Amino acid sequence: MNDLFSGRLKINNVSTKDTEVIQDSLTGLDRYEIFLKKLQKAIDNVGDQRISIIYTDIKHFKYINDTYGYQVGDALLRDFVSEMLAGNDTLICCSRVYSDNFVAANYMSDGITNEQFKELICKMNLERENRFREKYLNSRLQFCTGISVVDKNSRSLDAETVVSNANLARKVAKELEEDCCVMFDHSMMEGIKREVEITSHVPKAIANREFKVYYQPKVATETLELIGAEALIRWQKPDGSFIYPDQFIPFVERSGQIVDVDNYVYREVFRFLAERIAAGKKVVPVSLNVSRVHLNKMDVLEYVKDLFEEYKVPTDLVEFELTESIYLDNTEKALELVNGLHNIGVKVSMDDFGSGYSSLNLLSRLPIDIIKLDRVFLKDDTLQESDKIIISCVVDMAKKLRIVSLCEGVETVEQSNYLKEVGCQIQQGYYFSRPVPQEQFEEIMDREQVGV
Ligand code: C2E
Ligand code: CA
Ligand code: CA
Repeated sequence: MNDLFSGRLKINNVSTKDTEVIQDSLTGLDRYEIFLKKLQKAIDNVGDQRISIIYTDIKHFKYINDTYGYQVGDALLRDFVSEMLAGNDTLICCSRVYSDNFVAANYMSDGITNEQFKELICKMNLERENRFREKYLNSRLQFCTGISVVDKNSRSLDAETVVSNANLARKVAKELEEDCCVMFDHSMMEGIKREVEITSHVPKAIANREFKVYYQPKVATETLELIGAEALIRWQKPDGSFIYPDQFIPFVERSGQIVDVDNYVYREVFRFLAERIAAGKKVVPVSLNVSRVHLNKMDVLEYVKDLFEEYKVPTDLVEFELTESIYLDNTEKALELVNGLHNIGVKVSMDDFGSGYSSLNLLSRLPIDIIKLDRVFLKDDTLQESDKIIISCVVDMAKKLRIVSLCEGVETVEQSNYLKEVGCQIQQGYYFSRPVPQEQFEEIMDREQVGV
């Protein structure tokens, strides 16, 4: 710590008589309110100095508590604090905001740029991670840090704002796979504004039926017949413009609103299928996407059962897609959902296979019916030799495990022919059809042909 913060030392004391009230009993650090007061005083007197606000939390800390008990968890937190304080002569104040979230304010040395400072914190985090992973036998433990800097240009900001900026950068860091240290910048505020704007409009958008279900055909490789479709959501604003899922799903997942949005999509699809069935028209199975958020509540199974009951749609006409990462993050809950769906006769697929840390082991352990190979394997028009090998191996393995294989993102005839060659049973992609609105999908169903 010493080299890092070798600036001028200035400890701010907030006078109080009762030390018990001002300290966090677990770590002995200042309570957050006291921290804010000290930081505010330092900001007011920042002069030509710079102050770094370092907000850190410990990813997968809960695992330590759950596995080894709270005593070990507490010891880890105290260890973290002693490391943070050891020999640090530029510390202004530090505090545990809650649980495993810590914030520290330090004077920064004159010569170091903000970027270099971030790199140093990153390096320190990595070194600390190695030590802690060994000591606490948890290879996933990770320190995620966000930093904001106060200098004479930003001294009008209050303590709470600069901590909240550092916390925002920390949240960004937490979503990154590797670089677990991020410096706050103002563009992050734009992202937050967009997120708030989107999520605040969702309830009205549901009520106004602004969400539209599009259908993307799935085609049997052997016969090129239409054998199913995936329901994909689109948000059509009253002015006619579209917002695509990637631009709002992550936000509504974070806000928890995805449950309402998905339930809306599911209901629309059930209603559509029931109407076609009642009119004696052709129908094909439609697959629905499941967000990871559903697993926390598990009401999804009951909701789906009620829909089958209400609309009298046969259970082999609806399938569910769970992404590979859902299975990996929460295998037990995912298994519970898959079994629940199987019990009522509904098929389940593993979506986006190959997009993340695919676990081949998982494939054999989970009772899934269909594996959807992610379009990463088809990223180029001309298939790479290495991708060809992976595709054929996965298809082969799926066949042996009696799992149906589907490849998504098929855009060219060459790709489609290769999938046929290796025996991938189902294909989906722009080569056959983009996702289309309900009316257009009905035409495709009535024609029984996909437009190739
Ligand atoms: P996904 O489930 O992997 O869906 C496939 C995505 O690939 C869709 O993007 C689709 O339009 C796109 N796609 C299909 N064929 C091709 C192709 O040949 N080339 C290329 N480049 N792209 C192709 P979309 O509709 O934008 O959806 C993005 C993601 O948003 C979906 O990925 C899914 O994870 C999520 N999503 C969409 N609708 C829903 C929904 O109703 N509920 C939930 N929870 N998630 C949804
Ligand atoms: Ca999907
Ligand atoms: Ca997918």
